Amino acid sequence: MAGTIAIKNGYVYDPLNDINGEMMDIFIKDGKVVTELSGADMKDVKEIDAKGKTVMPGGVDSHSHVAGAKVNGGRMMRPEDHYKFYQKKTPITHSGCGYTVPSVYLGGYEYSKMGYTTVFEAAVPPMEARHTHEEMRSTPMLDMGGYLVLGNNWFLMRYLKEGDIDKAAAYIAWMMKTHKTYGIKCVNPAGVENWGWGENIGALDQANIHFETTPEDMIKGLTELNEKLGIPMPVHLHANNLGHPGCWEITRDSLKIPKNVKAKPNMDVEWAETKKNAKRHESVYLTHCQFNAFGGTSWRDFESGVKGITDYVNSNDHVVFDSGCVPFGDATVMTGDGPAIHDLYVLTGHKWSNTDVECECGSGVLPFLYLKGNPVHSVQWAMGLESLLYVKDAWKTIMTTDSPNGGPFIKYPQVIAWLMSNKARQDTFAECHKWAQDRTGLGAETREMDLFEIATITRANPARTIGMSYRKGTLGIGADGDVAIYDIDPKSLEVNDYESIIRAFENAAYTIKAGEVVSQMGEIVAIPEKNTFYSDIATDEDAEKSMLADVKKWFKYYTLGFDRYPTPEKYLANPTPIQVKAEK
Ligand SMILES: [Zn+2]
Repeated sequence: MAGTIAIKNGYVYDPLNDINGEMMDIFIKDGKVVTELSGADMKDVKEIDAKGKTVMPGGVDSHSHVAGAKVNGGRMMRPEDHYKFYQKKTPITHSGCGYTVPSVYLGGYEYSKMGYTTVFEAAVPPMEARHTHEEMRSTPMLDMGGYLVLGNNWFLMRYLKEGDIDKAAAYIAWMMKTHKTYGIKCVNPAGVENWGWGENIGALDQANIHFETTPEDMIKGLTELNEKLGIPMPVHLHANNLGHPGCWEITRDSLKIPKNVKAKPNMDVEWAETKKNAKRHESVYLTHCQFNAFGGTSWRDFESGVKGITDYVNSNDHVVFDSGCVPFGDATVMTGDGPAIHDLYVLTGHKWSNTDVECECGSGVLPFLYLKGNPVHSVQWAMGLESLLYVKDAWKTIMTTDSPNGGPFIKYPQVIAWLMSNKARQDTFAECHKWAQDRTGLGAETREMDLFEIATITRANPARTIGMSYRKGTLGIGADGDVAIYDIDPKSLEVNDYESIIRAFENAAYTIKAGEVVSQMGEIVAIPEKNTFYSDIATDEDAEKSMLADVKKWFKYYTLGFDRYPTPEKYLANPTPIQVKAEK
């Protein structure tokens, strides 16, 4: 029976239901978690003996770069990335290649092997939405969605400047539907606009060229509009001045701006049973803390500024962040923050590409290699781990590498090992440049995360943060039957033997998607159906009409016709609109 399965006697970690390593059975019927299976169901059901193994909800990545123009730019720029990592086809899988920027097929398979079932693409430029959806549609194994880049959008800067909130709200709602995207991404607010003139922005109250809009205007405006619209996730903020020594201060000050914005996600969905409140209460979701937390004043006195951010997060409840860890080795940096990548190009001289997407937004791409012997890189390695370990409440953090910026997502098992094992960290310190020890506080940090916390930061909390915990990141009754079973016996787990942790998380014993085993010990055994989520926001018709008149008038400057602008649903695999009810 497809989609029906019994997972017996595993040690279950389901943080949204407060289940911490309890030995229990999980039953899935027709793709959804159920209380039990009837005698008739049990007769021909697939049964998995998970005795001595760890059972978690399927992994959820709320911030990764896996599809669209800049990812494909990375693929085109990096032939050297292709031959290092490739796979032959099998009777059911495609061949593929690419280490930091894998082909879409390989990307889907590799996530699935690690027990992940849901991945969100964190930056969709409006005019590149079709391309992004084409690649997401071709990415197997994963349910997906994407965040629309709006932090330097001309219409929004104009409406916010004019104080026309109704038109701004109507514009965002229309853009989400038009491009079939899920939430708002805000990259270097008001600063990327200046990059069009070869400049950047250095302060929250600095107005940009022509629009006279400040980063503060954009952060305040977008976070307020996000809640007015009832969008499932908080605004995903990549702060100004990223990647420059001392940027932690502007990041912390940016987080203060939406402190009094009240979260009001309002989706018409059926919620799986959870013990904990599965709804988000945060008004801002900071991207890759590590890249936003550089300390010092120059590369000479560069140091970790993570504590400045984590102190703020520890004492405030409206912020959640993902880490952007740096696991060393090959990476490809790619971001909508064009000026940040340009500065990295000046610093490294590596090959570099920069794109402007017809004034809507842009991106930069540059190959990168993080070396243990490099002082700055070694500090960045420690900083990513600091960000996750310093925040006491794991419900405020999410583990990522901002793949492929800090490193490719296939390094997640290595990051988990560093978080769970102080010995793993100390062994790496021994191989690192001494700045890692001297200029960060990681060496003195003795916290070791347990499997419950790992489950929190790799599935439960990313799902909760982006408003997907009504069906993802939990094994509550009614949730999607997405499960990862790892060959880890918590009763005999020895964290000093961290190599065994890495091996277990690299290849899940079983990855189950909607009740079907899809990968087993690193082998893809079935290619499931997939869903693509987007926000379908109901708004005021009059405001939409007058907003559309503005947009249509402006379209004479675009290189494509207005009718070609939207992404039709046929570009999506199983389009799954989420009805969102905006405030009247
Ligand atoms: Zn990112």
